[in-house]
Amino acid sequence: MKPQLAGRFHNFPAYPLADVPQIKRELIARGVDVIDLGAGDADLAPPPAAVRALVEAAADPAMSRYGFQLGWPPYREAVSAWMERRFGVRLDPFREILPIIGSKEGIAHLAFCYVGPGDLTIVPDPGYQPYVGGTLLAGGEPYLVPLRPENGFLLPFDELPGDVVRRAKILYLNYPNNPTAAVAPLDYLQRAVEFCRDHGILLVYDNAYSEIAFDGYRPPSIFEVEGAKDVAVEFHSFSKTYNMTGWRIGWAAGGAEAIGALSRVKAFVDTGQFMAVQAAARAALECSEAWVPGNVEAFRERRDVAVDALRAQGFDVPVPRATMYLWVPVPGDGRSESFARRALVEQGVVVMPGAALGPGGEGFFRVALTQPPQRLREAAERLGRIA
Ligand code: PLP
Repeated sequence: MKPQLAGRFHNFPAYPLADVPQIKRELIARGVDVIDLGAGDADLAPPPAAVRALVEAAADPAMSRYGFQLGWPPYREAVSAWMERRFGVRLDPFREILPIIGSKEGIAHLAFCYVGPGDLTIVPDPGYQPYVGGTLLAGGEPYLVPLRPENGFLLPFDELPGDVVRRAKILYLNYPNNPTAAVAPLDYLQRAVEFCRDHGILLVYDNAYSEIAFDGYRPPSIFEVEGAKDVAVEFHSFSKTYNMTGWRIGWAAGGAEAIGALSRVKAFVDTGQFMAVQAAARAALECSEAWVPGNVEAFRERRDVAVDALRAQGFDVPVPRATMYLWVPVPGDGRSESFARRALVEQGVVVMPGAALGPGGEGFFRVALTQPPQRLREAAERLGRIA
């Protein structure tokens, strides 16, 4: 008899355009100059100080031991110091901060602490897939809430049906938002904290894009809201801020109970990130104020070039205040999957179809600003040919 996959495995949503990597390989093999603006994975370099710290730490045998959930203590202390410098919030480095293996890992595993069979989670649609994935793996059910342009892509948690709110264990919010590039005002976050407190819901605030913001805008931490530590866990990542996607390092911050619960779940799953990577992450945080503005400026230039070039081709694209994404209405019949497929097959440009990020993303495609300005210009011209 053949081993059978578990039921939960079949609950994962199908991924439109799962064949993209294969098509891309075939096009490249045929000599097509493919421009990949699909994944949020920029071509820019990490801070030199982080690279140096990694090399140095890797040479120290003590750093090659298991990190466990404690990890490398100076990393926790550097995170705590940065959170205070950046947001003015104080977090105990050992009880209220946890090293994670990229924020995706932490986000997915946190669901195991709070969600079980019969429980719902409130998930932005479109949204980052680990909200759905973590919920399903924990045996719960994601309740997708469409993000609409007329609401500024803010999840309308105060309009949810009463029975959904009663069954909900987690509300996932992510601003600055992937994929819509929307940002949330502080009073919205205050109302979200209040809503979660009133209903005993954990607020998972995904702040992966907190540092990629333009024109003087400074995204807040959820902990700038009074009392948020009682109901919220916030996730941070080195992937976007420091171009360290492959390094797999981030942190969770929150009240001691939630952070302790996540640490306990993780203790059954992993044994900590390589401590040399944690040393590199500390070095990145320590050069943050000196290094990040230049990196943000590179994304700002790309944003402006791409917006102008896409508008010149007739796309109706807004200027985002944050993130490394443009969220663009699909011209014509509005079908994102067929548009993205044509973009790749006919023009050699990879974009993310909105529907790949949830049914609420239909009608849009996402451009990641992961290539230099002249490549973005070229991509916009090619996309204009199928618009
Ligand atoms: N959260 C959101 C909304 C993201 O879009 C991403 C990356 O695409 C992450 C978190 C970062 O994930 P990680 O730290 O696992 O690289």
